[in-house]
Amino acid sequence: MRSYMNLSVAPCDDFYEYACGNWKNLLTNTELAQALNVSTELQVAQKFYNACLSAVVFPFPAAEPAYLKLIRSVGGFSKNPEGVANYLAMLLLYTMDAKLKGEKYHKDYCLSMVRFSFPHLLNKLYMADQFNERTRSEVYAIVQEVRNSQRKALEKVEWLDPETRREAQLKESTIESIIGSYENEEITTRMIQEIRGLDLKEASYPQSLIHLRKLVTRLRRFNGFHYEELHNESKPLDFLLGMQVNAFYYNLDNSIYVMAGILHPPAYHPDWPNSLKLGTLGYLMGHELTHGFDTMGSNFDSEGEMRNWWSKKSRAVFEERAMCFVDYYDRYLIPEINRNINGKGTQDENIAVSGGLQGALDAYRNQMKQLKNRSEGANATLESEKMPGLDLSPEQLFFLGFAQLWCADYEQEHYWEELGKEHTIDKYRVLGAVSNNHDFSQVYNCPSGSPMNPKNSCRIW
Ligand SMILES: [Zn+2]
Repeated sequence: MRSYMNLSVAPCDDFYEYACGNWKNLLTNTELAQALNVSTELQVAQKFYNACLSAVVFPFPAAEPAYLKLIRSVGGFSKNPEGVANYLAMLLLYTMDAKLKGEKYHKDYCLSMVRFSFPHLLNKLYMADQFNERTRSEVYAIVQEVRNSQRKALEKVEWLDPETRREAQLKESTIESIIGSYENEEITTRMIQEIRGLDLKEASYPQSLIHLRKLVTRLRRFNGFHYEELHNESKPLDFLLGMQVNAFYYNLDNSIYVMAGILHPPAYHPDWPNSLKLGTLGYLMGHELTHGFDTMGSNFDSEGEMRNWWSKKSRAVFEERAMCFVDYYDRYLIPEINRNINGKGTQDENIAVSGGLQGALDAYRNQMKQLKNRSEGANATLESEKMPGLDLSPEQLFFLGFAQLWCADYEQEHYWEELGKEHTIDKYRVLGAVSNNHDFSQVYNCPSGSPMNPKNSCRIW
């Protein structure tokens, strides 16, 4: 059998290079895709990426200081209203035209305009085509498995005192899981009906675009326009959009949201073995659940209220352990731009990565234990947990799936862009996660002191 892995880099030296060095081959290899029965699904996903998900970010001129400077240079709003109006019109037209210079951009531009302007309508079509009860119940079962292991971790973590542990357990037990999207039929229908107000009669192309933008603004401000009639606990409108490629934890209602848009490779495929499903989607769930217990989430209680439910003693240990992550990531140097990762700015994400990976692995181990107890052919179970063409044990595959979520090609400007954000740059996200995980070292036989198995590591949950 062919091996699809790039073996020029050893997993214990640099797990990111090991997992991603050959990742395109692995994900797009037709032989492997056929063996996994993912080719059609991948194409469907790509079609929807093209049709729905290639969002265009429109620059909002008022946010740019250069714009304000120019407004002043033409005399400001009060002295030269025509000058300012002309300038704004030019900016608006330029924004519309910029994507239309080459014919090859027309289709993408139009598709993304439709996606941008009618998200709720497209979402309805997307959900009907791409999401079903089978997926919902499987994803729900994975979330439950991961929650089980999080519950056990809260039970046994040695540094929590009894009163803080009780509060943490209460918070965990009341987390709600929303799978697919948050549903509100009434608001969805109203958002779709708003489209009727779009005036395209005999309008020119630029006029149509202006009308489209007015509609978008009306939709975005829907909650504001209707706040008097809306329920006090109305969710942000984005929560209704299952087609977004996203999963998140929301402090204010102590819930995790797993959007339908993320339920495609490389995050999930129904035919994958459990080892891969838990290393990918299971990890993502564990990550979001851990956000309820990171330095920000730990300020909110089970009701989503901001309240300090920590004893002084437990809080001090928690902060000391969080500091370990800050120092650990601070040490990562990105040679391409000669800068270090910002450990403080990324600490909550790194805590969530670490807790999520451990939670998912524990969930996988527990799932296997149950399967083996139930089935007589333990070896058959083990075989079905492998992937054709990959000479990896199920648990090695678990970690490979996790790492492959973050394979990316970076140009220099991307490092600069990502450096200030709350997520650690993909490569270091993977390296930080596996090198702080003792089970990883065992699964890949990394000797103590090797780059992926350093002497000092960090852990909170
Ligand atoms: Zn996160």
